[in-house]
Amino acid sequence: MLGDLDVTQPLHNIDFEVLKRAVEASRSPLIITDNSLPDNQIIYSNQAFLDLTGYGLTEVIGKNCRFLQGVETDKSTVKQLRDAVKNGTYVRVTLKNYRKNGEAFWNDLVMSPVTNAKGKTTHFLGMQLDITERITANEQLQAKSEELERSNHELEQFTYATSHDLQEPLRMINSYIQLLNKRYGDKLDEDALTFLGFATEGAERMQELINDLLSLSKVSSSENRFTQVDISKTVDRALQNLRMSIEESNAQIIVEDLPELSVDASQIAQLFQNLIGNAIKYRRKDATPKIAISAKKRENSYIFSVSDNGIGIPKEHFERVFTIFQRLHTRTEYAGNGIGLSICSKIIDKHDGKIWVESISGKGSTFYFSLPIKREAAQNG
Ligand code: ADP
Repeated sequence: MLGDLDVTQPLHNIDFEVLKRAVEASRSPLIITDNSLPDNQIIYSNQAFLDLTGYGLTEVIGKNCRFLQGVETDKSTVKQLRDAVKNGTYVRVTLKNYRKNGEAFWNDLVMSPVTNAKGKTTHFLGMQLDITERITANEQLQAKSEELERSNHELEQFTYATSHDLQEPLRMINSYIQLLNKRYGDKLDEDALTFLGFATEGAERMQELINDLLSLSKVSSSENRFTQVDISKTVDRALQNLRMSIEESNAQIIVEDLPELSVDASQIAQLFQNLIGNAIKYRRKDATPKIAISAKKRENSYIFSVSDNGIGIPKEHFERVFTIFQRLHTRTEYAGNGIGLSICSKIIDKHDGKIWVESISGKGSTFYFSLPIKREAAQNG
């Protein structure tokens, strides 16, 4: 029973010589400091500590641990260490130390108080671990991810600027084609009129492409405006914008009960518009389009689904369809630029969710996306 245990007696009956040799042989750099000596001097160091620091035994004994510190050692961490030693408490810190040759290393240092039979701290056992590699790898990873973020941001700005600036010359091309048609239409032969027709089509396609690129970069660069929204309202907005194609295709759309969540309402409406628009566009010729929209609650999120009975997507393309400009069909089969789903993906990214598709080729597809139930206040704006 613990109550009967005499804590002043060692728990393990281990030979002192074995204990000494174990500490000596340990690959973990170990030192022992003595609290009764001025400046809490080091009275013991094992070989691993000497190997780590590059100092000889006589250079270590009698010193205070601070002899490993240097210009770049963090002052507040040192204070934390000093306070723990003064109060006789356990402490674990990561600090920059220096070897004898001046080389810096990151030290994961654990200082454990050693108490006597009366419970008084008499010594400290200091265990070091050289974690330089890990810290350097982390720093490199951090630098790489910052660089990536910067270059992504530049790319987004570039996309926005180019698509925005392309609009003006395109407007000019369009208006001169119209002028040509109006003034010289009756003087042109059939071939010339056909060519003008192609030029008009090209300009229209370019306008659509620019509009899609602008929507994509708007999602990327806009500030998030999260508010508590009834998601079915965003679906209504999407359906309203799709009214023409719903009527033309006779699509039957079932919207189940949807929750209220903190989202950017216009982005989520755009997401539904793209998904429902696709469900109508990629319908089967032999079946009336049937589209169902629903949501299921999970522990921390809702999983939404937009399912259709359309042409479906082969399994090997499940990921590809979310990449910009990736299409599975030619423009003559189905109109489009291959940007819609990358906009969806970006919107869901901004909402800290995930988006994916499941489908059976020839039977239909279901697009799923998740939205978190709780949003951190800091994420707003
Ligand atoms: P777009 O429709 O302009 O081509 P998207 O990015 O919206 O661009 O879609 C990418 C591709 O994914 C489409 O070209 C199509 O092949 C496929 N796809 C998207 N939605 C569906 C769907 N509901 N059913 C079948 N295929 C789809």
